[in-house]
Amino acid sequence: MTSNWFVNMAYFIAAIVFIFGLKAMASPVTARKGVVWAGYAMIAATLATFFIPDLHNIGLMVVAIVLGGGVAWYSGKVVKMTDMPQMVAIYNGMGGGAAAGIAAIELVRGVPHDAVTSTLLALGAVIGAVAFSGSCVAFAKLQGLMTKAIRLPGQNNINFLLSVITIGIGLTVAYSAHPGGFEIFLFFVLALALGVILVMPIGGADMPVVISLLNAFTGLAVGFKGFVIGNPALIVAGIVVGASGMLLTQLMAKAMNRPIRNIIFAPITGAAAEGGEAVEGTMRELSSMDAAALMRYGQKVIIVPGYGMAVAGAQHKVWEMAQLLEEGGVEVVFAIHPVAGRMPGHMNVLLAEAGVPYDKIFDLDEINNDFAQADVALVIGANDVVNPVARTDKSSPIYGMPILNADMAQNVIVVKRGKGAGYSGIENALFYKDNCRMLYGSAQEAIAEVIQHVKSMEA
Ligand code: NDP
Repeated sequence: MTSNWFVNMAYFIAAIVFIFGLKAMASPVTARKGVVWAGYAMIAATLATFFIPDLHNIGLMVVAIVLGGGVAWYSGKVVKMTDMPQMVAIYNGMGGGAAAGIAAIELVRGVPHDAVTSTLLALGAVIGAVAFSGSCVAFAKLQGLMTKAIRLPGQNNINFLLSVITIGIGLTVAYSAHPGGFEIFLFFVLALALGVILVMPIGGADMPVVISLLNAFTGLAVGFKGFVIGNPALIVAGIVVGASGMLLTQLMAKAMNRPIRNIIFAPITGAAAEGGEAVEGTMRELSSMDAAALMRYGQKVIIVPGYGMAVAGAQHKVWEMAQLLEEGGVEVVFAIHPVAGRMPGHMNVLLAEAGVPYDKIFDLDEINNDFAQADVALVIGANDVVNPVARTDKSSPIYGMPILNADMAQNVIVVKRGKGAGYSGIENALFYKDNCRMLYGSAQEAIAEVIQHVKSMEA
């Protein structure tokens, strides 16, 4: 009794710290602190679990924690910033898989449950298994192991039928006091197949939203499992993750102007994206010297970073250049698109790492009207997030996605290595506009050259 009271109290405090940590993550200024708090809360909840009376398999638990914690610690240390989305996808999948695993054990034990618990057991198992296999597919896509978005004929009907059959079998086994091994096996095979089939056709610009949605699924599955096994820590953590994941999914879907139902039922198919009018004209090049002069003798420069800046690791050079321009009296600010890069907040993290002050970084809504007053929009390794066809071409797969109005600046300089397309695989009309010039080269080297020229210029 005393131990249970202690455990529940520890869970309660951990839940409060966890929620405060999550709240702190909402701003880049406090985000780091928030992650640390949430981490401490997780450690506290995990330690408290060992004080549950009559706990079995303590040795196995310790082995699992040491193995899982060790792998997570090591991979967290060595993962490249650009590979972070894959890592989030696979970690998220592990959470879903763990929830499905707990459900499998409960089903095999065959303990009779009441109606609510049985329903949550079945639904949590389906959602957890879908989150697991769906996240594995998302990982494979982001890691480049699976390059094609495969859409089956009658995909939506297959999704619907498979969902109904899987949930039906799940409810049958969860309501049965002694379900057969084959039924349980079939149930999980179908649930895992459902996750694969749901995520397989999705690609391109929709992937971040899918990862966030799967994350919400994992939270929900963990919450349901917490209810089934009577663990309040799992209920709170699961519901908090599920709710915040759902909110993030909605925010991202809104940022891309893609209703969530379209993402799942009418996805853009990644590099294979089709549609959109052909873009005509030629791209014109400019030298690093001319790029430096345009910015150095301008009054306002807006920098739009994208995935290419992350790949090149050019953020430090970019900030060095911005500081030099500012010393010369040029106003320099950064414009961040909500899905620039490969994960939400990707650019904010990189710029923060380089030491760019937060008051120089602006979100799409805050800065979009300022491009018209800018002498130069410097686009560094960004593509889809500045593609004006999203505004003009109804047949384009990214039509309707809000974009940064870089094309409205007096001059646009685009730093990229060549004629490579963006993540959605389509041509960018911006690059062919009269006010746009291409500065070819990998971002780090190209900006280093610009820095040399800026340094050599007279005030
Ligand atoms: P894009 O992926 O659209 O374009 C990146 C550009 O960077 C490419 O055109 C490429 O051109 C260039 N590039 C690559 N390497 C370098 C380098 N070393 N130096 C300079 N340039 C380089 O990036 P955006 O940030 O504009 O858009 C993000 C896209 O990713 C969106 O479509 C978004 O939906 C999607 N996405 C976003 C996620 C998120 O959560 N933020 C997650 C998953 C996908 P070139 O090859 O010619 O150099």
